[in-house]
Amino acid sequence: MKPLTVCAPLRVEASALRRGLRAARIPDAEVRVVRTGYGPARAAAWAAQETKDSPGPGMLAVGGVGGALSADLSVGDVVVASRVSDGSVTIECPSAPLLAGELRRAGLRVKTGPVATVDRLIRQGEHAKLAATGAIAVDMESAPLLAAAAGGPAVVVRAISDTPGHPIVSPRTVSGGITALRSLRQAAPALARWAAAVGPRQVLLASPRSFCAGVERAIEIVELALEQYGAPVYVRKQIVHNATVVADLERAGAIFVDELSEVPDGANVVFSAHGVSPDVRAEAARRNLATVDATCPLVAKVHAEARRFASDGYLVALIGHAGHEEVEGTLGEAPAAMALVESVADVGALRPADSGKVAYLMQTTLAADEASSIVDAIADRFPAATGPGSDDICYATTNRQRAVRAIAAESDLVLVAGSANSSNSLRLVETAERAGTKAYLVDGPEDIQLGWLAGVSTVGIAAGASAPPAIVGQIVAALGGLGEVQTKDVVVATESVQFGLPKELRQRPAN
Ligand code: SF4
Repeated sequence: MKPLTVCAPLRVEASALRRGLRAARIPDAEVRVVRTGYGPARAAAWAAQETKDSPGPGMLAVGGVGGALSADLSVGDVVVASRVSDGSVTIECPSAPLLAGELRRAGLRVKTGPVATVDRLIRQGEHAKLAATGAIAVDMESAPLLAAAAGGPAVVVRAISDTPGHPIVSPRTVSGGITALRSLRQAAPALARWAAAVGPRQVLLASPRSFCAGVERAIEIVELALEQYGAPVYVRKQIVHNATVVADLERAGAIFVDELSEVPDGANVVFSAHGVSPDVRAEAARRNLATVDATCPLVAKVHAEARRFASDGYLVALIGHAGHEEVEGTLGEAPAAMALVESVADVGALRPADSGKVAYLMQTTLAADEASSIVDAIADRFPAATGPGSDDICYATTNRQRAVRAIAAESDLVLVAGSANSSNSLRLVETAERAGTKAYLVDGPEDIQLGWLAGVSTVGIAAGASAPPAIVGQIVAALGGLGEVQTKDVVVATESVQFGLPKELRQRPAN
């Protein structure tokens, strides 16, 4: 395989990059740093020469200092270009989020966005005009240099040496340059890791994946509440366990709180998809809060089962994970009659008043195989034990686990889109690992470590029931920036479940 070519327009930039690579003991055979010259004309001449008699370097990185256009960039920050444009040519850099994540983990402050290439130093006052094009940083070489990549994998890293408030020609020019070169040196080893991850891949998409009916309904409830009542609308706990969903709804005017004590009197409050205990409902009623319940109907069904078993005199073993909001809500239905069972070992601690009256229920997002071993242990100890009428582990959890198992068998690596507090997403990681494949949970492409991808030719992608479908698209696009990607849907089930909205939101006000 050819080495990575890193283009550095200036001698000081090339030297900073080489020092960074040497410090990380990256062999010269893996990365070649080339000084390509200052300005667009020299950059274009280098690219033309490089591709004159051959298809070019195959993969290309541009590394240097640059100017900030965005007000939230400071000297020493690093910009990874999502695209580069000189006004006539625009080149996309889809793997930018992967490199940006790697640089952040290396301790740098990083922003991803468009970079503009200009043909002369921009003067004081010209920044706003360029920023209006959407660019967050500016340089003088990246667009012509990327021509040498000829459509192959390419990245651009610019360390900020000047900002609109700290212009390039100022008493602080030298200090800005030194700070930027230090960041560039620190960034260099990540370029080598990016190069090691480059290659064509097959991507297997687990299907079903992403939003289930309960999550779609919960998000719609918050959106409709905002539309109907106006912002802010308070939401007790995260509406669903996903960082992107929560951030999007916060931007729309939702305020997420941990407890009702944080909700002002008279405010509108939504209960999350995971459900709440009767104590929380009672507190809301006591305070006359206007509530809308986004509890998933399948979670509400488990609550109803808990009430029924408890009123019939059963000890109810709830199989689930301590601290999860759904478990707390369900246990709250009949605290004196219920016991949490997290493992087979916990079954031995159950102390029913009548060993003939033991029932079990489950958290809806458990791994089916994990839960069944606990059910077996309960049945062994209490042969008369009874369970729910139909499975508590919901259809969406079951289908996503089947789908991840199907792709794990064929993949070198499985990426599960989902947040760290999402129970069903964590179970997908465990399910893939139990099938013998390395698996990682990622909130988005920036969480993917480039080292995971080195030497990996088939990547499986699954997504938890709370992960937006767009995240999967972003991951596939980022992998496409490392080389050609062929995607294949692996479908184990089709879903058509839909849940109705709560009555408060069905009754829309007349215009
Ligand atoms: S994962 Fe299952 S229980 Fe949870 S919200 Fe979705 S459908 Fe409802």
